[in-house]
Amino acid sequence: MFDALTERLGGVFDKLTGRGVLSEKDVDAALREIRVALLEADVALPVVKDVVAKIRERAVGEDVIRAVAPGQQVVKIVHDALVDLLGGEGEQPGLMVEGEPPVAILMAGLQGSGKTTTSAKLAKRLQDVHKKKVLLASLDTRRPAAMEQLQQLAGQVGVGFLPIMANQRAVDIAKRAMNAGKLQGYDVVILDTAGRTSIDEDMMAEAKSIADVTRPRETLLVADALTGQDAVETAKRFHERLPLTGLVLTRMDGDGRGGAALSMRHVTGLPIKFLGVSEKPDGLDAFDAKRLAGRILGRGDIVSLVEKAAQDVDQDKAERLAKKMAKGKFDLDDLREQFGQLKKMGGLGGIMGMLPGMNKAAKSQMAAAGMDDRMLSRQEAIILSMTPQERAKPEILKASRKKRIAAGSGVTVADVNKLIKMHRQMADMMKKVGKKGRGGLAGMMGG
Ligand code: GDP
Repeated sequence: MFDALTERLGGVFDKLTGRGVLSEKDVDAALREIRVALLEADVALPVVKDVVAKIRERAVGEDVIRAVAPGQQVVKIVHDALVDLLGGEGEQPGLMVEGEPPVAILMAGLQGSGKTTTSAKLAKRLQDVHKKKVLLASLDTRRPAAMEQLQQLAGQVGVGFLPIMANQRAVDIAKRAMNAGKLQGYDVVILDTAGRTSIDEDMMAEAKSIADVTRPRETLLVADALTGQDAVETAKRFHERLPLTGLVLTRMDGDGRGGAALSMRHVTGLPIKFLGVSEKPDGLDAFDAKRLAGRILGRGDIVSLVEKAAQDVDQDKAERLAKKMAKGKFDLDDLREQFGQLKKMGGLGGIMGMLPGMNKAAKSQMAAAGMDDRMLSRQEAIILSMTPQERAKPEILKASRKKRIAAGSGVTVADVNKLIKMHRQMADMMKKVGKKGRGGLAGMMGG
């Protein structure tokens, strides 16, 4: 799941992270591609619109973290938008099973969604992790095979199973299950309701009356992630009739496009509590928004890099620089400060080590282009060999001064010229940005 989306977003990020400067046009193009990538992953259109708007808003409003490249900051912004979409950073909902025993958990969903399998997986989890005594009960009176399947699974995972009695109505079985739970000292009773191949009134009415008599702590809808937007539609319809408390998405191990998983929370407002990741009884992962977003983007290292940089940024210095920029001033001392910031991050080596895909070949390419730690130190040395006056007014740097500086810092005059040129380009860029008064990442410089 998500492979195609991961690849497409990766393509967008590769284009961005390779640059030191992002223009507004670059950001627009990236947003268009992100939009297409999400739509192709079968994410619902209103959801896509919201996410893209959020990313744009942040890319414009975000403070620039100067120690990282703007493209890397965009990766972090997209990551955060995905986390929000999935319910927010702290979204690890777990299960509510506290209360006077036996606590009921009602399982709802269409036939074939993985409801019975998930009931057994939950029972196993509650027993193994939460140390609860669990009773499984099948309420599928129309399909004896479904009851037998649950019985078999209960035996497999080693939890209690309510004996099947012929010709009992679902509501009565539910009552019997709660009674048995009470008498036999069970903590949790999991009620596996009957599913149909499509939503119908009988199924809803039955589930509703079961909920009325058992007062479940959790009413979970099980939905098949491979069915895409149909799963989202199903969840909406169920939620209109049943007070659902959460969702379980099954077959996350399949090769679906992932749109259901991404749209579900936003469309229904319900937390995704678990993900089914295999047919086996232990194939159930607790949902974690941040982990899933990280998996989708596949750029966890960049995200932590930017988080680290954001913490390291010296707010005072940043404000001072912003003021200077607004006035169109950015001198060589400021440039040196930028290098210092980079060094604080463990230098280029440290930063490159944190980036995925930074293989040997890429590293030697960068080294050939002079992009290594030595370069950082060399640039700093050049600036330190200048007088304060020269640093503040680089335009006074003529041939004889350059020669002196080159000798003082152990480099060639060409190296000094390169640095001056780089500084001039940065200063021009910042002047433009300052004039336009436009904030955000577009048009800003990275590291
Ligand atoms: P129900 O009709 O909703 O009770 O669905 P079942 O629990 O019988 O599941 C239908 C099929 O899907 C079974 O073959 C399960 O083994 C399979 N299944 C359920 N959950 C998952 C999952 O998360 N991953 C995979 N690969 N298969 C699953």
